[in-house]
Amino acid sequence: MAITRRSFLIRTAVSGAAAASILSGAGKAAAQTLSSENYAMLHDLTKCNGCPHLDTPACVAGCRVKNMPKYPEPQQPIKNYWPQKKFEDWSHKRDLNDRLTPYNWTYVQHLEFVHNGEEVKIHIPRKCMHCDNPPCSTLCPFGVNDKLPEGPVVINPNGCFGGGKCRDVCPWHIPQRQAGVGLYLQVAPDYAGGGVMYKCDMCHDLIADGGQPACVSSCPQGAIKFGDKAELRQYAKNWAKENNGYIYGDVENGGTSNFYISKIPFEVINKAILAQDIDGQPGRINMAVNMENPLNMPDKMLGGFLMAPAAGILAAAISTYQIMKGDDDHED
Ligand code: SF4
Ligand code: SF4
Ligand code: SF4
Repeated sequence: MAITRRSFLIRTAVSGAAAASILSGAGKAAAQTLSSENYAMLHDLTKCNGCPHLDTPACVAGCRVKNMPKYPEPQQPIKNYWPQKKFEDWSHKRDLNDRLTPYNWTYVQHLEFVHNGEEVKIHIPRKCMHCDNPPCSTLCPFGVNDKLPEGPVVINPNGCFGGGKCRDVCPWHIPQRQAGVGLYLQVAPDYAGGGVMYKCDMCHDLIADGGQPACVSSCPQGAIKFGDKAELRQYAKNWAKENNGYIYGDVENGGTSNFYISKIPFEVINKAILAQDIDGQPGRINMAVNMENPLNMPDKMLGGFLMAPAAGILAAAISTYQIMKGDDDHED
């Protein structure tokens, strides 16, 4: 099939329309496919001691060892690309372990503060929350960010253009971009870009083999549990009732597959996190409570969708070009 300007524009428009279909709530279908084989993780903040004797907490180290084969190896030199004036290259900072990067999919927040007149130390392993109705997946312009029926939310690095829509719409801005890798290099390295977005994938490959996530098995304190989501949620609720405690992750962003339990209210914990002045520090995330899912707020969802369209639409156009070029080559 010959690529004409008209057919190209029509296909690009269709790609855009497909993305826009989420405005009617089509993206909620993924959440409705959840079954009893639905997994979750639970972080017990009364057990996590932050691994004080280690430079890198054991759960973080376990994640890094397990996922090293998945880390990006960018082509150097990385070019600046339009429309952005700079690129994101973490390949020279692979050792960073106190924030999320493409080479560090979990980190531990260490907090010290006074609560009810007592000095408190608390340590919080952070990572993707694997939301029930993830905006990062629903709003991905290419459909390469999937909510698996078992719970994990997984980005396919082979189809990602690194437009970063997933990070924009994630309430915690979890996914992190590495430039110099991915499909854009084959399609239009001088005119589009991004790279690929990376984040925790709940070790879905280990789960598929009957195992458990590496951070869970690495923790010497047994502070992270993995298992059936309904059972872990019930465990969290029972624990909170018996200990006058609190749960995070059950209602935030409409529900997630990552729970946290604590004897200190998460409002207080979030205040302590914000006191570290993390705002404006990408990769270091808050713990805001009761945040609504943008997909359940049509006006904000539309606003968010329209606010960051350039890379997505450009990437949709490139994707369309590639598909049509493929058709063309095939027929030739
Ligand atoms: S926490 Fe963010 S990146 Fe993870 S599933 Fe939810 S919306 Fe997506
Ligand atoms: S579940 Fe796997 S990918 Fe996610 S933080 Fe734990 S070890 Fe890393
Ligand atoms: S969750 Fe376990 S391994 Fe991670 S910092 Fe806490 S105690 Fe250490």
